[in-house]
Amino acid sequence: MKEISPSQNLNVLEKPLVQKIINLDPIKKLEKSSAQSQWSIQDSEELYGINRWGIPYFSINNLGHITVAPKGNRGRSLDLFKLVKALEERSLNLPLLIHFPDIIEDRIEELNSCFAHAITRYNYEGSYQGVFPIKVNQQRHIVQAIVNCGNNHKYGLEVGSKPELLIALAQLKESNALLICNGYKDQKYIETALLARRLGYQTIVVVEQLSEIKLAIDTAKTQGIRPVLGIRAKLSSKGDSRWGNSAGDKAKFGLTISEIMEAIEQLKAAEMLESLQLLHFHIGSQISSIATIKEALTEASQIYVNLSQLGASMKYFDVGGGLGIDYDGSHSHFPASKNYSMQNYANDVVAAIKIACETQKLKVPIIISESGRAIASHQSVLLTNVLGVDKIPTFPIDIEKDKCHSLVQEMANIYDAINSANCQESYHDILQLKKEGESLFSFGYLNLKDRAKVESLFWQCCQRIQGIVNHTNTGFDGLETLNELLFSTYYCNFSVFQSLPDSWAIEQLFPVMPIHRLNEKPTELGILADLTCDSDGQIAKFIGSQEVKPHLELHQFYEGQPYYLGIFLSGAYQEIMGSLHNLFGDTNAVHVRLDSEGYHIEHVVRGNSMAEVLKYVQYDSQDMVETMRQKTEKALKEKRLTLKESWLFLKHYEEALCNYTYLR
Ligand SMILES: *Cc1c(COP(=O)(O)O)cnc(C)c1O
Repeated sequence: MKEISPSQNLNVLEKPLVQKIINLDPIKKLEKSSAQSQWSIQDSEELYGINRWGIPYFSINNLGHITVAPKGNRGRSLDLFKLVKALEERSLNLPLLIHFPDIIEDRIEELNSCFAHAITRYNYEGSYQGVFPIKVNQQRHIVQAIVNCGNNHKYGLEVGSKPELLIALAQLKESNALLICNGYKDQKYIETALLARRLGYQTIVVVEQLSEIKLAIDTAKTQGIRPVLGIRAKLSSKGDSRWGNSAGDKAKFGLTISEIMEAIEQLKAAEMLESLQLLHFHIGSQISSIATIKEALTEASQIYVNLSQLGASMKYFDVGGGLGIDYDGSHSHFPASKNYSMQNYANDVVAAIKIACETQKLKVPIIISESGRAIASHQSVLLTNVLGVDKIPTFPIDIEKDKCHSLVQEMANIYDAINSANCQESYHDILQLKKEGESLFSFGYLNLKDRAKVESLFWQCCQRIQGIVNHTNTGFDGLETLNELLFSTYYCNFSVFQSLPDSWAIEQLFPVMPIHRLNEKPTELGILADLTCDSDGQIAKFIGSQEVKPHLELHQFYEGQPYYLGIFLSGAYQEIMGSLHNLFGDTNAVHVRLDSEGYHIEHVVRGNSMAEVLKYVQYDSQDMVETMRQKTEKALKEKRLTLKESWLFLKHYEEALCNYTYLR
């Protein structure tokens, strides 16, 4: 284990002026005496909350590395840091998205087992048949893993568009698993879905707007196929999440109660009312509060029994998505969390529909949920490496006190005198002096050189004060502002826009932490900046146990030594919504499976090359190379370039086109 003093920041000060002061520094002595109180793995667990959001898949081993147990409590675990090293040896470079299909399978098992428990507990005389909404992660290997493992549970797929329908038809085995067809539909969509029933698929067309009823009736008549139809209801209960407008009177999707009545009339007139068998609702994603879910369930259960009483052959109760993920581990109704477990959720669904049916003496339905986030979030980890750190600007300065500006002298005197008793006072003084320096400079009374000294001394004072305050835990008014002033920017090899779009677009929080050195105290506070030339391309909000933190605790970065960060629970929605900002393409992705010997790499999906990304914006890489060749030829002729230089230039240019868009 490595000892790191609690105020590493002071190291910056070990430079000319400061050298002699440091030696006398009472704090330095304090640090030495408290070195025994080492940082433990438990401290890291507590700090990053991994036992709150990571259970049962992620934990820390005694090397201080994160480990992954892809089968949860049912299997072994692997060392994530060693895995990344092994992948790098196979030239699978960072940024890297590691998928663990075993985790997806474990989540599917878990969801099914929660519903099975609830069904037993409430003596429910129906069954549960989940579907995975493809939009959450359409990657082929993932959909395949879901379909394969879901077979035992008749676990099906949900689609929201024609391309997704094409995927589902190709992947799903013609079995008892359901294929729920949501989204806006045209005639071809409905026709394809209905014809698929002839191939043996259990397609259910869910009507999202009234006009689709007529389309469905007409298509069914022309094709002579008895369809199974569902209706998506616009509930008045609204989700409380960011996606809460998926329900309520102004929701984009679904039929109001009066539209449902109209739909029933149209079906009745077409003698097709027995085709209506399913009620669907979706009140939004990441519902944090169980109260909201209960309210929606109560309302929807009533609609269900009413539809039954109106003569529809009701058979399925589809509760949509919304089952949340505890990203911050706080187990609360905060947007990044949820105040219920998967089991609570299953219990409430089963109980609500059972009570409503029992009261009306109706047969209970098959329960469907379209849980996406809850299935897919844990299965992928995004890994990035730190390329460099931008710290606050302090430079060694030599001060001959009698020769420089009085302001510099004053600042240096304050620096010398800082101790645990006068931090507050010194802090106010230096803020004042810095302001004075700025106005003296504007009026021409302070030259550039002295202004630089004032600035540099100011930062050194801040660091010193921060070191003392953090170390002695003395009360200090304005510590947050001070920390705010002193944070570092860690430049990371990835693009937020490509790999974590929700972090940028809706400020979603994901757990972020180093995947190694967790037996060392993280001594720095930092934010993460990505490679894009966009000030939005950063992560500056982090999960905390109580509140959102503006900085992440990070380790000191040493040039030339790897420092890897993992971004967790990012397996839902992020991959497909990523965009090519600054033309950073898809990252490398690997699918890792446990096996009897350890693990193996099941699939490798190489990230985009520059040529691929350029093609997306209509550039032809061959044309580009040819243009550059002509330009170098001309420069060569005019002797602006040697033959060797032109060769080197073209080589770099051509090689770059075939390479990864990220940094090596
Ligand atoms: C997005 C969506 C889902 C998935 O929601 P999660 O919150 O990810 O479970 C399910 N059903 C429909 C209709 C959706 O639009």
